[in-house]
Amino acid sequence: MTISPHLRLKMPWPFDLVFTHISARVPGPEHHFLTTPYGMMFDELTASLVKIDLDGRKVSESPYDVNPAGFTIHSAVHVAREDALCVMHTHSVNGVAVSAQEAGLLPLSQQSLGVLASLEYHDYEGIALNEEEKPRLVHDLGGNTYLMLRNHGLLTVGATPADAFVAMYFSEVACMIQVRATAGEQPTRSARSSTQVS
Ligand SMILES: [Zn+2]
Repeated sequence: MTISPHLRLKMPWPFDLVFTHISARVPGPEHHFLTTPYGMMFDELTASLVKIDLDGRKVSESPYDVNPAGFTIHSAVHVAREDALCVMHTHSVNGVAVSAQEAGLLPLSQQSLGVLASLEYHDYEGIALNEEEKPRLVHDLGGNTYLMLRNHGLLTVGATPADAFVAMYFSEVACMIQVRATAGEQPTRSARSSTQVS
């Protein structure tokens, strides 16, 4: 999997430097994955992805290291969801902001309605290093496309990297709209109660 320069230019959000990851399952009977090298930001990725197993160990030669702790969330989702061939997880400012709001994602925009149709929440348990958290994370994700990790960030799954990216794009945009719409003193209006849809 490579991230094209075109796609890189379309990712306008700060992602918490090198501390979030994308993973994609490699075709075949082995549970092997391509993931981001530790120390690289998303916009630096080219052919530098690292092939690892479910425990985050490298299974092919690579000059780059991986952060096994960073793969905890991804491996849990990949094991539980055969259809989730790509998992994307971010700590974007807007995503973390909405994840810290008690009500979670509000139906304030068309973008949010699409996300809300397949969204669940997972409570914060500290930095995700604990293997015991995996079943709870998988349970909370269920069969959904979107998981909001409270006080932490966003997670999306897809059958392809493009699917996971597009889901993350709309998830992020919905959060960005919510942060801006709730920043002022104006009352907000639900998209569900609106009579006009543009
Ligand atoms: Zn995270």
